[in-house]
Amino acid sequence: MNIHEYQGKVLLRRYGVTVLDGYVAKTAEEAEAAAKKLPGPVYVVKSQIHAGGRGAGRFKDDPNGKGGVRVVKSAEDAKAAAAAMIGHTLVTKQTGPEGKVVNQVYVEAGCDIARELYLSLLVDRETSRITIMASTQGGMEIEEVAEHQPEKILKVAVDPASGVSGWHARKLAFGLGLTGKQVGVFTAFVMAMYRAFVELDMAIVEINPLVVTGAGDVVALDAKVSFDDNALFRHKDLEALRDDSEMDPKELDAVKNDLNYVALDGEIGCMVNGAGLAMATMDIIKLYGSSPANFLDVGGTANAARVTEAFRIITSDVNVKAILVNIFGGIAKCDMIANGIVEASKALTLKVPLVVRLEGTNVELGKKILAESGLAIIPADNLADAAQKVVDAVKKAA
Ligand code: ADP
Ligand code: MG
Repeated sequence: MNIHEYQGKVLLRRYGVTVLDGYVAKTAEEAEAAAKKLPGPVYVVKSQIHAGGRGAGRFKDDPNGKGGVRVVKSAEDAKAAAAAMIGHTLVTKQTGPEGKVVNQVYVEAGCDIARELYLSLLVDRETSRITIMASTQGGMEIEEVAEHQPEKILKVAVDPASGVSGWHARKLAFGLGLTGKQVGVFTAFVMAMYRAFVELDMAIVEINPLVVTGAGDVVALDAKVSFDDNALFRHKDLEALRDDSEMDPKELDAVKNDLNYVALDGEIGCMVNGAGLAMATMDIIKLYGSSPANFLDVGGTANAARVTEAFRIITSDVNVKAILVNIFGGIAKCDMIANGIVEASKALTLKVPLVVRLEGTNVELGKKILAESGLAIIPADNLADAAQKVVDAVKKAA
């Protein structure tokens, strides 16, 4: 789960991470009032969307081509900047060409920037450790740095048993060219970040830029925080930070129905039970020359209601040209799944070809239910047969 910059900063501040004062605003008037509460004379108005690259982004309807992060010199200008952002669509490198509507801005105190650095913490799956990454190339996209100047990315891996210690941070501090009192300040910053990361079960936190100010302070000027969804049950208060307007509506629907759904850009809608079988299904669709429109795992306890819900989500995707149901009946028996498919197909009046492959408990009964349903369901005997039939069905429909 991702959250907004301003929400991330509130959380990080609780752990002692230095951030500047600021207020979130949903209207231009609120932005003006927010600026008046800050010391000035410089304020920064920042579009709040779940995507980076806002500073270099552009508003769809703005011919002047100003970005999603603007430095202003008065409360009136903060108001004007907010008015130009709120309700408008910001397109950045990370939003895709359709962009994202800005619903709120963060009005933050202006910062006297001496250096822009980069700092992030993430779980490195190769080493199974939390890895702290830092770079002198702050303010730039880290993917670009990784590609063109990989030597500029510093990494330290932290053993989860012993946790972070001063030397981890100092190693990075020296690599970043920090000296004197800044080394201590940076070390305290990293320790606070690590504690926040572990205690809040973050998946990734990225501070880009991490700024060294003219006065020598170390400040998080941006904050991108993402939580491990599987640990959210431990943090009921964090779930309140979820912003539904930032999610793909189909994915949001799936979350609410406890389905594992990821939208993809292919043409075959998939409904599968078990993540491993779902992966195999996507692979074989590719092998037979098409591509999946989604990943959907209805789970081991699939029932008629969940099957209907899954169909509803799949068919709401206009790119879906055919559906492949691939179920291995275990706890969820094939006859029950078959009944669910029949009910759902009738309720939703499917407009695209439907290929069904059932295997496992009560498979014969399941196949009989489908055959006797009177619906134009294409039965398949195994995975390869199913993939072949669904790809053929798409071709025929075209
Ligand atoms: P994004 O990464 O989405 O573009 P950032 O929060 O990193 O958004 O802001 C982009 C740039 O704007 C930063 O690299 C920094 O140079 C500048 N900036 C952001 N916040 C402030 C601030 N409070 N004071 C001064 N400059 C800022
Ligand atoms: Mg940034």
